[in-house]
Amino acid sequence: MKIQEIYTKQQAFFNSNITKDVSFRIEQLKKFKKLLKENEDLLYKAIYEDFGKSEFETYMSELSLIYHEINIFVKNIKKWSKRKKVATGFANFPAKSYIIPEPLGTTLIIGAWNYPYQLLLVPAISSIAAGNTVILKPSELPAKTSETMAKIINDNFPSDYFCVVEGGAKETTEILEYRFDKIFFTGSIPVGKIIYKAAAKHLTPVTLELGGKSPTFVLADTDIKMTAKRIVWAKFLNAGQTCVAPDYILVDKSIEEIFLKALKSEIEEHYKNSEEIDENYLRIINMNNFDRLSKLIDSDKIYFGGNCDRAKRFISPTILQDISFQDEIMKDEIFGPILPVLSFSDLDQAIKMVKERAKPLACYIYSNNRQTIDKLLKEISFGGGAVNDSLMQLSNSNLPFGGVGLSGIGSYHGKSGFDTFSHNKSILDKPFWFEANFKYAPYSKYKLKIIKWLLE
Ligand code: NAD
Repeated sequence: MKIQEIYTKQQAFFNSNITKDVSFRIEQLKKFKKLLKENEDLLYKAIYEDFGKSEFETYMSELSLIYHEINIFVKNIKKWSKRKKVATGFANFPAKSYIIPEPLGTTLIIGAWNYPYQLLLVPAISSIAAGNTVILKPSELPAKTSETMAKIINDNFPSDYFCVVEGGAKETTEILEYRFDKIFFTGSIPVGKIIYKAAAKHLTPVTLELGGKSPTFVLADTDIKMTAKRIVWAKFLNAGQTCVAPDYILVDKSIEEIFLKALKSEIEEHYKNSEEIDENYLRIINMNNFDRLSKLIDSDKIYFGGNCDRAKRFISPTILQDISFQDEIMKDEIFGPILPVLSFSDLDQAIKMVKERAKPLACYIYSNNRQTIDKLLKEISFGGGAVNDSLMQLSNSNLPFGGVGLSGIGSYHGKSGFDTFSHNKSILDKPFWFEANFKYAPYSKYKLKIIKWLLE
């Protein structure tokens, strides 16, 4: 079906007001969860074919987040979509004031390839829950997952309500010609700018979930073993192809050697032999990314790993040492299983280096010292993060997820996702039985005095 037809039908469906009924939304979310559960095997198979993602990782880092989000919305939509009373004040006596959360209309959600299910479906759930119609545009790179989501959704939902349109840059450019009521985009900064520009033509509100280099501070007073364990898990999950993965480490020089050893022993423990690696570790999504990543491995600076197999698009968990901000690997987001370790002897200087660069999507702080933790939280601006952990902030839907500055605009997950896809309609509601006449002409000093008292 042509995009123009889908777009026109979705607008008509939204205008029929069916999606404004909260029980309709709940019903659709329950139906969607049931469908995904029934088709889990297809979803696992597709993502494994695309880049070797295991059932375990797919459930843990994709499907569980989707199911959890559906459960949260089913439980809370009634409460979140209710009109909320707010105070009115004397000036409008005897009126009442309230806010009505209302859906925006026809929404477009564009996904990235690295978590192809959750990056597309979690915002879709927020948009459905808020009462919109939804067009999804998955990334074309994981072709099987894109095809599978299109099949599951398009065979089971009417396209005038919820629909997948597949394609790459060309198709997305065509879709962006239409005036959507909201565009939600996950992807790179350069494409984010293209989306923002296309949306500006129609003054369409956007949420941009972008990327960047997320620093990880490791302070001298940290629990070294636990720090290494959590960082290794977070960095090499999805083979480092995670927007909020620790991009690079800033470790206190006094513990650098022992920390590097701890990283190495964690990698050796969890990715012991090639069979386990085959089962538990992902491939790089495509040759372009494989070639880009393998060039970033400076053989003089390998502390551990560095094995690359082009035919298999495989790069082993790799640690680089003696890295400075001038190295090639520090220029752009890595987005792969290479972890550069930089050391510092002056924390203020390290903070300064981070602050001179684009505001990161995430930042992680490993320390036992509350004062140092608070100092870093106060001085560095970033989207979100964790203290003494990495990545797990994502699993708490009470925490809005999104970037700041170049790492993004807006947020989602849980209630913040509902707000992202809603408009707060503000209403002052007045009866006829009383009117204070002070605001009407002819004006007088006496009326001004009363107005001053009422309005300040
Ligand atoms: P990308 O920007 O290349 O592609 C994202 C989407 O945009 C895809 O659906 C693609 O088809 C479409 N697209 C590509 N070129 C386009 C064009 N010229 N015009 C219109 N649409 C176009 O990003 P990617 O490679 O899929 O993902 C990697 C990037 O995404 C990384 O920078 C990563 O940090 C970021 N990311 C951010 C988050 C987040 O939640 N903040 C999550 C995952 C990935």
